Amino acid sequence: MWKWQQKGDIAYLTLPEWEQQGVKVAVSGRQGGYSTGEFASLNLALHVGDNPSTVLKNRELWAETVGVEPGDMVCACQTHSDHIAVVDEGYRGRGVFDYTTGLPDTDALVTDRPEVYLMAFYADCVPILLFDRVAGVVGLVHSGWKGTIARIAARTLVCMQKEFGCRVSDVMAFVGPSIGGCCYEVGQDLAARARRVLGLNVELRTTVEGKFFWDLPRTNQIILERAGLLSENILISSICTRCHQECFYSYRGSEGETGRIGVLLGLK
Ligand SMILES: [Zn+2]
Repeated sequence: MWKWQQKGDIAYLTLPEWEQQGVKVAVSGRQGGYSTGEFASLNLALHVGDNPSTVLKNRELWAETVGVEPGDMVCACQTHSDHIAVVDEGYRGRGVFDYTTGLPDTDALVTDRPEVYLMAFYADCVPILLFDRVAGVVGLVHSGWKGTIARIAARTLVCMQKEFGCRVSDVMAFVGPSIGGCCYEVGQDLAARARRVLGLNVELRTTVEGKFFWDLPRTNQIILERAGLLSENILISSICTRCHQECFYSYRGSEGETGRIGVLLGLK
């Protein structure tokens, strides 16, 4: 199970069972940082219009809170693609102090190296954390509706299998806080496309008023199960970011002007 951890003014989610097996896992909330206005206050993303020097202060505070060196983190320039990068020690610090040095056009990161801390940023999109305890490999996925339709979570698993010989039966997954099926209304075209491409059923419901609500976390759970993950190895946070804007940023809830939480994942 996940749990909240509090350190100073910062609360973050972690997974004690993964931590016990040598993985550092931390999902930030939005409280306790330096940003103001719509970015208040622990905005960790450099690409959303917040003051870069404030974001760097937030990142320093975040790294200190979770006990890693900022220069050991690796960040990508996320574009809602299905592109995956395998990273090692040589990638440390990419995108951490300067957005332009982030891995270009990348929405999933995989590593088997200790103390290379993968970071990704979210406001409603689905964080998917993967951990193969046998092979010692972690993967971090950013999956919004585009990434979900492209099945980036399943592609990341395939990458872990090809690159590191991971067996899907050894892989555990955590589907972190994201917009839930309660709040994620989509248009008829996207609903039809999602149903056609992914073969969805109850994960995309139609209300009596004819509106469509898509459960992205549940859909990603199904994608992982179809890819071979054992149901008992998949943990869903069941936290809707739009329903809990006091704790998290929500792109929908703020009509687009907002910060990003960060997810940190790495082998200790
Ligand atoms: Zn909700």
